[in-house]
Amino acid sequence: MKPPIAILGTVWPDAVLAALDQQFTCHKLTRMTGEQRAGFFRAEAAGVRGVLTTGVAGIDAALAAQFPALEIVAVHGVGLDAVALEALAARGIVVTNTPDVLTDDVADLAVSLLLAAARRIPALDRYVRAGHWADKRPLQPSRSLRGKVAGIYGYGRIGQAVAARLRGFGMEIRYFQRSDGPEPALRSPSLQALAGASDYLLVCAPGGPATCHAVDAAVLDALGPEGTLVNIARGSVVDEAALVAALASKRLGGAALDVFEDEPNVPAALTTLENVVLTPHVGSLTVEARLAMRELAIGNLLAHFAGKPLLSPVDA
Ligand code: NAP
Repeated sequence: MKPPIAILGTVWPDAVLAALDQQFTCHKLTRMTGEQRAGFFRAEAAGVRGVLTTGVAGIDAALAAQFPALEIVAVHGVGLDAVALEALAARGIVVTNTPDVLTDDVADLAVSLLLAAARRIPALDRYVRAGHWADKRPLQPSRSLRGKVAGIYGYGRIGQAVAARLRGFGMEIRYFQRSDGPEPALRSPSLQALAGASDYLLVCAPGGPATCHAVDAAVLDALGPEGTLVNIARGSVVDEAALVAALASKRLGGAALDVFEDEPNVPAALTTLENVVLTPHVGSLTVEARLAMRELAIGNLLAHFAGKPLLSPVDA
């Protein structure tokens, strides 16, 4: 008998869902109508042994409780802030995610955002499209990167990949995280100290309660009017209201953001500011990364139900 699984999230192409149907009895929750969902929870949920979800959709404790036979949650993504890790661990349910295979592409986006903000590329694109070049509207020079300090909050896989790229631009690297990390001499004593020493503050730390609003008004003030915030991690790490206030009052120089507190809702104020660059949570959205993430997430499910070692288990 094929193992019954529930599939959450909107990242699964039809062909992938069809291939999953060959291996599992699939309950595609995000494609169900309200009535179908009610029927599923009444009749089928009790038999579900696996959940395939995404970092954004996750699985909370209330949903996990609807699956009494659950053995494994396979997450497509690396962030686990939307996954009820404690509740799952308490029931002995294993969790897997997809680290490493997306690191380069997410780091590339972080650097792209930093460059776009530093060289004001979206604003200049708007300038050309609006005909202001032909109008001879004056232009201000932007700032070079060489010799500037990139402060990285969360010096893990993605943070270190960002640093490797920015060193190529002649930037100086510092970081802050809880542990010493691989280059302790570069570690600042606090996030606020890091922001104070940085021209660019790049958020690469996970979301969740421990980092919620860690980038607050005091951190943004320490970064200052010449400073730029880049966030590719999770919107919850930044106090968005404080960010809007700092940008609007020019206490902060600029921001480049891939993630937001209430996705897909972006504060209107951010969409009107010239010195802000916005992307819609696309750090890992490349053909190559998404293929590798799908293969790893599904590979973990297949390994589990074949009684083989998991490919990328999350440490309990
Ligand atoms: P990782 O290798 O686990 O690195 C995370 C780093 O953050 C670690 O070095 C960790 O060091 C530090 N950290 C964790 N908790 C912290 C805390 N409370 N305070 C300060 N530092 C803390 O993870 P990764 O693969 O680099 O991914 C990082 C995050 O990027 C993910 O969690 C995810 O949310 C986000 N992400 C976003 C996208 C996107 O599409 N925009 C794509 C992929 C990932 P310590 O434990 O020593 O503190």
